[in-house]
Amino acid sequence: MGIKHKLDLTKLAFRMNSTSKVPMPLAPLLPQVLHCYEAILTPADTAFLLRLEAKRAYSYEELRRLSGKVDAVFKPFLERLMSFELVSYYDYRDGREPFYRLNSILVGWFESTLSPMELTPERVEFARRVYQLFTGVKRFNFTPVRQIINFIMKISPTYRTVVTLDEAMPAKQSINLNQKVEPAGAEGGVMALDGIDYYLDKFDQDASIGVCACFCRQFFTIGGEPCRYDIPTESCIMLGPHARHMIDSGLGRAISKDECSTIIRDCYAKGAMLNVLYLHSNMDELESAICLCCPDCCGGIGAYNRGLLPLNVKAYYLAQANPENCVGCKLCEKYCASGAIKIVDKQIVLDEERCIGCGQCAFHCKKDAVTLIRRERQVFLPNRPKSEARF
Ligand code: SF4
Ligand code: SF4
Ligand code: SF4
Repeated sequence: MGIKHKLDLTKLAFRMNSTSKVPMPLAPLLPQVLHCYEAILTPADTAFLLRLEAKRAYSYEELRRLSGKVDAVFKPFLERLMSFELVSYYDYRDGREPFYRLNSILVGWFESTLSPMELTPERVEFARRVYQLFTGVKRFNFTPVRQIINFIMKISPTYRTVVTLDEAMPAKQSINLNQKVEPAGAEGGVMALDGIDYYLDKFDQDASIGVCACFCRQFFTIGGEPCRYDIPTESCIMLGPHARHMIDSGLGRAISKDECSTIIRDCYAKGAMLNVLYLHSNMDELESAICLCCPDCCGGIGAYNRGLLPLNVKAYYLAQANPENCVGCKLCEKYCASGAIKIVDKQIVLDEERCIGCGQCAFHCKKDAVTLIRRERQVFLPNRPKSEARF
């Protein structure tokens, strides 16, 4: 790479970082960021991106004029940059004109690159380099940087909820399937199997349920860490406008409510938790995805279990241990999303503060030695020292 291109990429890195609400400490990560850019950006791509101001919204026509290209050439040029989420497209569907913006570093990079089931060599190489950048964040897991990151994440808004599926739980356990079911967040509601049906019924129209590759699973697999729970790659459920956008862009496929239900049940039985995400990461907006995240491959939970980032979620259930029934089989420890369970001397030891209510322990325990009670709350789990990382 020539010196001029390297300088331009460096400028681009600082520009993109300045668009972020929480900019990353760029200087120590700059070599890895440039390594990612080099995999996909030509000098002409970089020159175009540097014509975009940080945080400014552009119409398609403004972007085309800045590129100096005719429409037929510009359209695929822009689509390629968007496929790596270097430029983002926003359509709030509320009467405002859709617009484009220079994106920030890392945000959406692996979502856009790795959602298709079939990947080009260029996407794989980009993802491999992004994996090095992402896992490189572990270098910042030391005092006092860890405490500063924990503080920032703690005051940031929560944007995911954890719900559970109680199909296989004995009736004597705490969830009553015959109880009236309300959506997540409603007073007195129960997010259980019927709770999932609530979401699926809500979106079971106009091709509003879709599935795409779990980009986190693809990401860690490309980085050399295939899913430790053997969950299928095609396992990210999309809902509503998000589903339609992904289906229209060829990044996922439409599925029926029944197929969706089957995927959810299969993945849950293998250890995936049900993680509900919202449009624009805002829990007051419409649900956009049900992520089937396992403790291993998830940008959120997996990052927490690797000692990369803290975790901030809304939970609806709390596990309760009944050690007198426990035979020490360790299934609950294996499937616990957040490492809240340890088996010590063949007995379950549960750290309730770390429970995020995913229900996996109760689902897998054959001895009724762990059950769930309803307890709606925010759970913030600070990042722990590297020596305590699970993976
Ligand atoms: S958040 Fe979970 S399901 Fe969604 S892509 Fe990541 S691991 Fe897959
Ligand atoms: S799954 Fe049940 S029996 Fe097995 S270790 Fe956990 S609590 Fe004990
Ligand atoms: S203890 Fe672990 S497996 Fe059980 S509900 Fe809590 S987070 Fe999930």
